[in-house]
Amino acid sequence: MNDRFLEGRTALVTGSTSGIGLAIACRLAAHGARVALNGLGTHEQIDAAATAVRVAGAPDARHFAADLRDPAQIETMMAEVASWSAIDVLVNNAGIQHAVPIADMPVTKWNDILAINLSAAFHTMRLALPGMAGRGYGRVVNIASVHGLVASKDKAPYVASKFGVIGLGKVAALEYAAAGSRDSGGVTVNCICPGWVETPLIEPQVEARRNGGSREDGVRALLAEKQPSLRMSLPEDIGAMAAWLCRREAHNVTGTAMPIDGGWTAQ
Ligand code: NAD
Repeated sequence: MNDRFLEGRTALVTGSTSGIGLAIACRLAAHGARVALNGLGTHEQIDAAATAVRVAGAPDARHFAADLRDPAQIETMMAEVASWSAIDVLVNNAGIQHAVPIADMPVTKWNDILAINLSAAFHTMRLALPGMAGRGYGRVVNIASVHGLVASKDKAPYVASKFGVIGLGKVAALEYAAAGSRDSGGVTVNCICPGWVETPLIEPQVEARRNGGSREDGVRALLAEKQPSLRMSLPEDIGAMAAWLCRREAHNVTGTAMPIDGGWTAQ
């Protein structure tokens, strides 16, 4: 990619060993960013993610291990990334799901989903935003969900965490709205709210709708419930939106929650 507008910038993408996070990391890399990866996985998966990001165009890429359920590990990760390179772009993408009715929801699942999908974003933002403001440029992109805008049954902690991360983002957007300038790019905080995206996260929900048929049958049934376009997004589609938000000319786009959902939340 010729458009290296992120040359000299560093991006931390949480949950970038898989799915949407890896696609965002590759897209930012293609625009010239150094990329700090984070996420769970085997050594092979982590090495493959780092290689993919370098091949995409990152001048440098490193994995920073932290289990985002643990605030102490997040603090250590943020300090390690900052001593590697100041964070200009923070993408809070790591997320997990568990779909069962409230009465059957294990308390440990509630705690883990809130910790990873919501509290981790609070911790990374509180540690990254002051530096961004000091340098006059910063981008926080939180990967929320349509489930931050509307609910579905059986997803209490997921929906609560995604509504929460949109609220958190709006507060941070207001607190940092006046940082920097139009020329420096300012500091913005936005959420992207995908509908269904082709990643491992949705596989249990596809599986639950197969009714003995093929995976495609399960996908069709899932889309027919909620997503009028009847098309899944690709992780790369979300990566393109995240990259656009990092542009200087997006300096006044802040505090938003942008659906990429084939019309789901228009209904
Ligand atoms: P995925 O399962 O492919 O990736 C999740 C990433 O989070 C992985 O890198 C995983 O290692 C990481 N992660 C999980 N637990 C972690 C922990 N404790 N500490 C550190 N990292 C951890 O899922 P995905 O579909 O790419 O989801 C990415 C984000 O997009 C999530 O926030 C999800 O809620 C959101 N989202 C996904 C969809 C979809 O349809 N796939 C739709 C809307 C929103």
